[in-house]
Amino acid sequence: MNDESPLRPPTQGFATRQVHAGRAPASDGVSPRTTPIHLTAGFVFDDFGTARDRFQGDDDGFSYTRIGNPTNSSLERRIADLEGGTDAILVGSGQAAVSVAVLGLLSAGDHLVSASSIYEGSRGLFLDNFSRLGIETSFVLDANDAAAWERAIRPSTRALFVESIPNPKNDVVDLSLVAGIAHRHGIPLIVDNTFATPYLLRPLEHGADVVVHSASKFLAGHGSVLGGVIVSGDSFDWSVTDAAGQPLFPHLTAPVRSLRELSFVDRFGPGAFAHYARDVVAARFGPTPSPLNAFLIEQGIETLSLRVDRQSASALAVAEWLEQQPEVSSVDHAGLASSPSHAVASRYLPRGTGSVFAFTLRGGLPAAIAFYDAVSLFTRMTHLGDVRSLILHPASTTHAWRTAEQLEAGGIGQGLLRLSIGVEDADDLIADLASAFAAVREAPGIDGPLARHAAAGAVDSQAGAETPSFAAEVGAR
Ligand SMILES: *Cc1c(COP(=O)(O)O)cnc(C)c1O
Repeated sequence: MNDESPLRPPTQGFATRQVHAGRAPASDGVSPRTTPIHLTAGFVFDDFGTARDRFQGDDDGFSYTRIGNPTNSSLERRIADLEGGTDAILVGSGQAAVSVAVLGLLSAGDHLVSASSIYEGSRGLFLDNFSRLGIETSFVLDANDAAAWERAIRPSTRALFVESIPNPKNDVVDLSLVAGIAHRHGIPLIVDNTFATPYLLRPLEHGADVVVHSASKFLAGHGSVLGGVIVSGDSFDWSVTDAAGQPLFPHLTAPVRSLRELSFVDRFGPGAFAHYARDVVAARFGPTPSPLNAFLIEQGIETLSLRVDRQSASALAVAEWLEQQPEVSSVDHAGLASSPSHAVASRYLPRGTGSVFAFTLRGGLPAAIAFYDAVSLFTRMTHLGDVRSLILHPASTTHAWRTAEQLEAGGIGQGLLRLSIGVEDADDLIADLASAFAAVREAPGIDGPLARHAAAGAVDSQAGAETPSFAAEVGAR
């Protein structure tokens, strides 16, 4: 809807398209170089016939901002282009994007299979919210274990869900493997591509059918707004049926009044899901983004590749440096040769492996607290993909409501800290981290031997035990 021009085939490079793709033609003889911010609830109908045609006819013009807005459309076209998709729907947040994608596909009684290593907000959405709507979710611990997906899939499964670069362990997903499993069962693969961005990875090229993003992160990059987007390709057959000939997505194949008794598949073919998600899910549930936010996200996207190149390079430099520190027991960065995800990452992420990763301190929680409180250039914040570098302790914040067993299965220890590397000079970031290591060595309650061995450049495998009194004191804060 509201596509002034068909998407250009990507004959131009990413950096060119990130500043030019999707630009609307000039109107009213006025040609602003940046996209105007159409802060308006609705749009004037010139006369009775225009109003009628906009609702009932093929007139794709704008009527009301919840249904569509030129500023939002401009950003939608640009993101669709960068992801290599045919359509994109902008919504108010990444959570809204996940909600609209899933609610556009699944109905009560349907089942979703998700990788367990996903954003905690999405996990909560599946477990607490969709479960109340009769949509059940099963989780697969290792997203690259084909047999585990096969075991989890049921006759009622209607989609698989993964994040291309999961958080915080950087266990990069083999997307074509998971897409192949989904398609053998006649169901689509939804990929949350927030951490990779379309600059590093385009899931549709690897078999994904629907891509979602939190635009609040790298796409905006400046950390001033929230936004989300759902991108779809055109290769999934939405009229797919089960062995008994029953449609798997009856809401897309049943005739509807607003389409003059055609179904979404009849009317839009491979675009059936995108049109349904836009017109029936997003427009009705109403997670409409402000055109001002769309403008700000579009401004951010214009420098996406430059930021992500630099952030990826700096993150790798920081990860390599962290791996040398005696206080660190492991660094979860897919760009490191030591990472179990290195081989998959080399296949899928040749331009860089992203800039959000974790490392684990041998000193457990007391060391993590001392480290966290000692940084000064890094911002203590739950956010990522920002131009500023950020630090987070997942076990006590984002992942606090996982059980001890779930944390252990996910490799999220009390000594694990997550970093999101910004565009600052890498040397300054390393200097800030070095001063935090000094604070860890000096912190009361952290085993003396660790400090001494660390100073001597040795590694003390005994030093990981937490000092109970310190932990208790911490708990009382
Ligand atoms: C942040 C995030 C979300 C949620 O996005 P919001 O814009 O905060 O609603 C979803 N998925 C991933 C991977 C995220 O990082």
